[in-house]
Amino acid sequence: MAKVERDWYDRYMMPNYAPAAMIPVRGSGSRMWDQEGREYIDFGGGIAVNALGHAHPQLVAALTEQANRLWHTSNVLATEPALQLARRLVELTFADRVFFSNSGAEANEAALKLARRYAFDHHGEEKDRILAFENAFHGRTLFTVTAGGQANYRQGFGPLPGSIEHLPFNDTQALTEAFGDDVCAVIVEPVQGEGGVIAADQTFLEAIRRLCDQHNALMIIDEVQTGVGRVGTLYAYESFGVIPDILTTAKGLGGGFPVAATLSTAHVADSLKVGTHGSTWGGNPMGCAVASTVLDIVSEQGVLQGVLDRRSRIERSLRELGEKYGVFSDVRGLGLLMGCVLTEPWQGKARDLMQAAQDEGVFVLVAGASVLRIAPSLIISEEDIAEGLERLERAISNFISADNA
Ligand SMILES: *Cc1c(COP(=O)(O)O)cnc(C)c1O
Repeated sequence: MAKVERDWYDRYMMPNYAPAAMIPVRGSGSRMWDQEGREYIDFGGGIAVNALGHAHPQLVAALTEQANRLWHTSNVLATEPALQLARRLVELTFADRVFFSNSGAEANEAALKLARRYAFDHHGEEKDRILAFENAFHGRTLFTVTAGGQANYRQGFGPLPGSIEHLPFNDTQALTEAFGDDVCAVIVEPVQGEGGVIAADQTFLEAIRRLCDQHNALMIIDEVQTGVGRVGTLYAYESFGVIPDILTTAKGLGGGFPVAATLSTAHVADSLKVGTHGSTWGGNPMGCAVASTVLDIVSEQGVLQGVLDRRSRIERSLRELGEKYGVFSDVRGLGLLMGCVLTEPWQGKARDLMQAAQDEGVFVLVAGASVLRIAPSLIISEEDIAEGLERLERAISNFISADNA
């Protein structure tokens, strides 16, 4: 077999991504190794997906056991892992019913369709307006990218689905003014992840809940990135004490195996009658078996408390680094979804700093052009945290002297 080279990417793949020059081939816990055997500390967690790091032994066991048992039946047949996971999600959340799919975009697509269908069933087809927020990210299908608040992601893909409006995030007054009885749903992230790691204000989420109640609209909370322990509660809505009608969960749910879910109350779920929506792979036995194991581990109090402890520890160091080198003006976000906001001189250089970090052997993410995003495994060890932060400090130091030279 020919050795796989990075330039195959440019020769064989559609050019919609710009992956790093190195190709990782193996991961264990919070460490990753590339083709050359170079080791990296993983502070990105596969974009907040690898909630329990790489190759967690209990997840590998759940996956291989299911892989030896039953792979796929389609939704024509129910499977034990899917029913077990659905029951687990219902026990652990506000929700009564679950719809499975394979990605965050699909979970949101189902949520938005469900909200429209619910309004259609109960209030008539004029109630179709969806309120969403600037800089929000909900996925890349045409409906979800239209609900998202980044115009450049929609550009050139029209005609787009209609009756979707974008309002400034955390602006209760704008929301109150825009609301009306023709609104069928509001879709919101408790922490805008891709949009710069910006947490919703408590009063803003409460206002969404109140206005939805006043106008018979559904509150959809997009927990694709914040869910599964990422912010220190199993789902972020618990931290805020604001209960949605529909919740979507994906990234961390399978700990790296693709599985996603749309959760709702029984009354709302009733609008997805037989034949109204579907997915061939949604609820596939391997994804569901892994996800149940992820939930068992993460929902344990020790792990959730550990997220908050790691947050304080990492935030403290990041603030120190920020001050020492004058690079970060703020460290924001919740739990282990952290955004380091670059100071004025370094605006627009998040990608360069990410590259500098990679050169020093620590993998981080960006959230927009001026925010460095850190979303490690929820159970990353103190040793890996310390080593990762040391490498990050070297990267920042190099980055600054290179740029000043
Ligand atoms: C990543 C993300 C999505 C999209 O998930 P995919 O699995 O890439 O389709 C949707 N919403 C939020 C908040 C996300 O972070």
